[in-house]
Amino acid sequence: MLNASQQRSSASDLKPYEEVAATAAAGGSSSASPFVLPDTLLNAFDIHCPKCRCLVIRRGVATQQDADKDVEVPSPAATSAPYPLVPAFNWALSNMMAFENVGFTKAVPGGDDTRYLSCADCDVGPIGYHPPTLPKAFLIAADRVRYNTA
Ligand SMILES: [Zn+2]
Repeated sequence: MLNASQQRSSASDLKPYEEVAATAAAGGSSSASPFVLPDTLLNAFDIHCPKCRCLVIRRGVATQQDADKDVEVPSPAATSAPYPLVPAFNWALSNMMAFENVGFTKAVPGGDDTRYLSCADCDVGPIGYHPPTLPKAFLIAADRVRYNTA
């Protein structure tokens, strides 16, 4: 495994969700998601932490999954811009080992057993969650991460 500093990309290569979505809209007729590889439907770009920019999910390992409208993910405290509580969609992994870097919050006392996912390096989060009812679902909010489109 590379250490975190080797995995960081330069700032100019990383685009927020809105920017990647906008390039697709400008592209015209295609209804295909700009975020996935057309042949495998796996994530087309390396996915990075929005704050420290370390690599969270490598290209080609996550699937695009509709967000559960009933699940609200709290907005990260460390960011100035509030994120939608229900993401545009989620990146789904079935195995925690498939992440390059990810951290887990403890279950909230008195709450349900939802565990939130954060950046293992700088601790910003939640950037996603792990639903208690789905042991093999690790979900990252698509609009809380950055994409290496270089
Ligand atoms: Zn980070």
